[in-house]
Amino acid sequence: MSVLVLCDHDRGALAEASLEALTFGRRLANDLGVACSGVLIGEGADNASTSLASYGADSIYLVEHSLLTDYGPSAWGESLVQLVNKVGPTAVLACGTDRGNEVIAHLAASIDAPFVANCLTADTTNPSTWLMTRVQWGGSLLEDSELSTEQVKIFTVVHHGIEAEQSESSNSGQQESFTPELDESVGQTIVADRVVLTQGITLSTSPVVVGGGRGVGSAEAFAPLEELAEELNGVVGCSRAVTNNGWRPHSDQVGQTGTRIAPQIYIANGISGAIQHWVGAMAAKNILAINIDPEANMVAKAGYAVIGDLHQVVPAVLEEIRRRKS
Ligand SMILES: Cc1cc2nc3c(=O)[nH]c(=O)nc-3n(C[C@H](O)[C@H](O)[C@H](O)COP(=O)(O)OP(=O)(O)OC[C@H]3O[C@@H](n4cnc5c(N)ncnc54)[C@H](O)[C@@H]3O)c2cc1C
Repeated sequence: MSVLVLCDHDRGALAEASLEALTFGRRLANDLGVACSGVLIGEGADNASTSLASYGADSIYLVEHSLLTDYGPSAWGESLVQLVNKVGPTAVLACGTDRGNEVIAHLAASIDAPFVANCLTADTTNPSTWLMTRVQWGGSLLEDSELSTEQVKIFTVVHHGIEAEQSESSNSGQQESFTPELDESVGQTIVADRVVLTQGITLSTSPVVVGGGRGVGSAEAFAPLEELAEELNGVVGCSRAVTNNGWRPHSDQVGQTGTRIAPQIYIANGISGAIQHWVGAMAAKNILAINIDPEANMVAKAGYAVIGDLHQVVPAVLEEIRRRKS
């Protein structure tokens, strides 16, 4: 018996989200008294495997096949189906990223088993009915659901729901190759080409995000926020009021219909903190709100706040940073 954790990687670069899933899987495996195994599919799996043992993988399945060149939901899904049939695990999980949910849904549909997406916790007291808390509507609703099956339990763990944490015990991370039997037809959905729009630190991975809302006032008025982000090696984010006004592109939007961020610090300038924005920002470790309204939701939620006009506060902060750097 074991817990299988599908670890997402992009051409050998392990996704951070996989370590969250592995942390969850390791704790689950401990509770169940079974082993925790990582699963890496396709070209580059070997490269991506290096840190899995330190996050709790007792063993690692490297799934290889000539058709598994780049990511493909059908090919990855079918490979996982065959591995599950071979191993007979107690549970299979992945991080609830687009890819994680896509591949795990394929597995569940193929073996006709129930699947719970975006879970935060799993209570396994009753072996045939696990009680799952899952996150809905971008984090504004927590839903209790039952995962009731005598079969393998299948679910994903909500992204940013738990922090990835290295294992205290030493796990061997012993590697084992697995070659599935794949039909040419699964190759129809394998990534053939890609255009990278953003490189380096992105909104979802940056340790510092400088956010601007309607209070910034115009596209041009984002310049000091850009400068502040640059000084702090961070990126600029914004609210939907800003994208609606055409001041910033949608790729900068934080929130339910934008990006979920989890920086060390989120500096929210002129943002009221509406629930749809908050669900995208709530995983920030620290929040500094700069707002003229002491009653604003973002101010209430922030650990630190400056009540004042951002057009005066941001230049003053910039000046002080530069003075200290020089
Ligand atoms: C289905 C749906 C999905 C949505 N998805 C998202 C989403 O993904 N992301 C998102 O952000 N929103 C989303 N929204 C919109 C959301 O409800 C809010 O309307 C939006 O977040 C408000 O943006 P804001 O805080 O910039 O503007 P406002 O609510 O207008 O707040 C502006 C803030 O700036 C402050 N301010 C004004 N001038 C200054 C100044 N000079 N200095 C300092 N502070 C100042 C004000 O006190 C106020 O707190 C969604 C809405 C719906 C219905």
